[in-house]
Amino acid sequence: MDILVVGSVAFDTVETPFGQVEDVLGGSATFFSTSASFMTGVQLVAVVGEDFPEEPKGFLKSRGIDLAGLQTRPGETFRWKGRYGYDLNEAHTLETHLNVFESFHPKLPEVFCSAQYVFLANIDPELQLEVLAQVDKPRLVACDTMNFWIDGKRDALIKTLKRVDILLINEAETRQLANEANLVKAARTILDMGPSTLVVKRGEYGVLVFSAQGVFSAPAYPLEEVFDPTGAGDTFAGGFVGYLASTDNLSDSSIRKATVFGSVMASFTVEDFSLNRLRDLTWTEIEARFRKFQALTQFEGLS
Ligand code: AMP
Repeated sequence: MDILVVGSVAFDTVETPFGQVEDVLGGSATFFSTSASFMTGVQLVAVVGEDFPEEPKGFLKSRGIDLAGLQTRPGETFRWKGRYGYDLNEAHTLETHLNVFESFHPKLPEVFCSAQYVFLANIDPELQLEVLAQVDKPRLVACDTMNFWIDGKRDALIKTLKRVDILLINEAETRQLANEANLVKAARTILDMGPSTLVVKRGEYGVLVFSAQGVFSAPAYPLEEVFDPTGAGDTFAGGFVGYLASTDNLSDSSIRKATVFGSVMASFTVEDFSLNRLRDLTWTEIEARFRKFQALTQFEGLS
């Protein structure tokens, strides 16, 4: 099954202790689509400015991503500037320029409206709602957001969450959204807001998945070289929703396997800046890391 995604397509300027890049390809929808494209078809809805070059569009098309919902508008493309210290788990936003997103209203191409899998990547929750208003009857709606929107557009976000099946956010955002310091209590509060599953991303400490079935925990893949965590969350979501859509199976065991696929995909993104590592990634490498992951987490039961 194809996935419909709405989110940002951006130019990022990023500083980490290991280097710096300026105006490189980024954005929540870009990382998500590229990651998911290893498993299934993707229909992308976003906007870029007239300054957006052809090369990245060619790259996304080469991954089989349908760009019929990508509008080009007068003005500049969304720009984000962030910094990471030695604790790579925490991004410090220095600048957010919405630019063409300020006046953007998504208009879905007719064929996108029947999407069965929808991913509302990190973007203004009002735009997430506008997309939901145009899709017929999706089987699964998954959603990401961040502190910028939890602070700035809380009411719209709460409205969106009522229509979301799976919410994927990081640990600090979980506490912020629930107004609760304890993660388990915070998860319960968020599950009462609408989603039936909450995926809490904890950077190098892995992922916790909360649902009525209980809690599932997966570690992050231990890497020797981590250059830039930008996009790790979106790439995780791409692997996670990509796996669910490719199997069209939403059982608890499928969600567990999707969590590992998400972690595998994210582990590649952080090895280089921007989408560089995903550009030359192969399915053989993905499978090999999935197997290593399995070995990492396998242990015998009680006798
Ligand atoms: P993450 O996966 O959380 O590291 O997401 C990083 C990406 O999110 C970057 O490529 C940014 O361009 C994008 N981004 C940052 N802030 C926002 C925002 N307020 N709305 C939408 N996208 C954003």
